[in-house]
Amino acid sequence: MNPFSVAVSGKGGTGKTTVSALLIRSLVESGQTPVLAVDADPNANLHEALGVPPGETLGSMREEAFTRDIPPGMSRTQYIKLRFRQVLKEHEGYDILTMGRPEGSGCYCFANDLLHTCIRLLETDYRFIVIDNEAGMEHISRGTIGIPDLLLIVTTPGVRGIRTAARIHELSKSLGMQSVPSGLVFNRFKEETPEMMPGLPDPLAWIPEDPSIEAADLKGRPIAGIAHSSPAMVEARVLSKKIVSLAVKRI
Ligand code: ADP
Ligand code: MG
Repeated sequence: MNPFSVAVSGKGGTGKTTVSALLIRSLVESGQTPVLAVDADPNANLHEALGVPPGETLGSMREEAFTRDIPPGMSRTQYIKLRFRQVLKEHEGYDILTMGRPEGSGCYCFANDLLHTCIRLLETDYRFIVIDNEAGMEHISRGTIGIPDLLLIVTTPGVRGIRTAARIHELSKSLGMQSVPSGLVFNRFKEETPEMMPGLPDPLAWIPEDPSIEAADLKGRPIAGIAHSSPAMVEARVLSKKIVSLAVKRI
């Protein structure tokens, strides 16, 4: 199976982690499993949104896996594969991989290369990969996420978010993602008509402002645990259905 990978981008605070968590829950609940959830934000918090404990990060693993003596009878590659399996946290229907930051003097791109190699090794296991990215455009310009099958650009209806969304879209097109479909996700949507501007991808989802997300946040409860009938959850299911049909078309 060739997994369908969805990269979630956007300005900080627009709801990338929220959208990722709700999307992962929708995919899992509709049986589109297994899903690999990648937390590619150095300030990792996708596990919190999903309500699972933090795991070890790929950034710290790579330091150790490359500097430590490997167990006798094992090659370095075998050891890295074994450690990668341990870094991956398994949950019902999905696994989480937290990139973290590389420790010591290590170059960040090294962890990214390792991620690609490790995911390639495992790739056949997953139906969907959902990557919750750091804010802004770094991950696109550095190639952290490679070439996804779909780029979701999350924005709130505010002009600043929308401008960033247009910039991310343009940058992605100039950096080898010309053929990658992208979709705009309007999050925290109320009644207002957002100002559309040239260069924006087509809107794919409108996720409403949802008091149950705010309540979950205030109480420190996982966002992905909101009621099945919550407005944002309902729209996240619409989004996940669209993504599933894109994945089907690709095959
Ligand atoms: P990002 O990952 O882009 O930085 P988050 O997903 O962490 O953004 O969301 C930022 C804040 O906005 C969080 O406090 C979150 O609870 C809140 N939030 C996100 N989406 C919604 C929504 N649809 N309704 C209400 N609150 C939301
Ligand atoms: Mg986030």
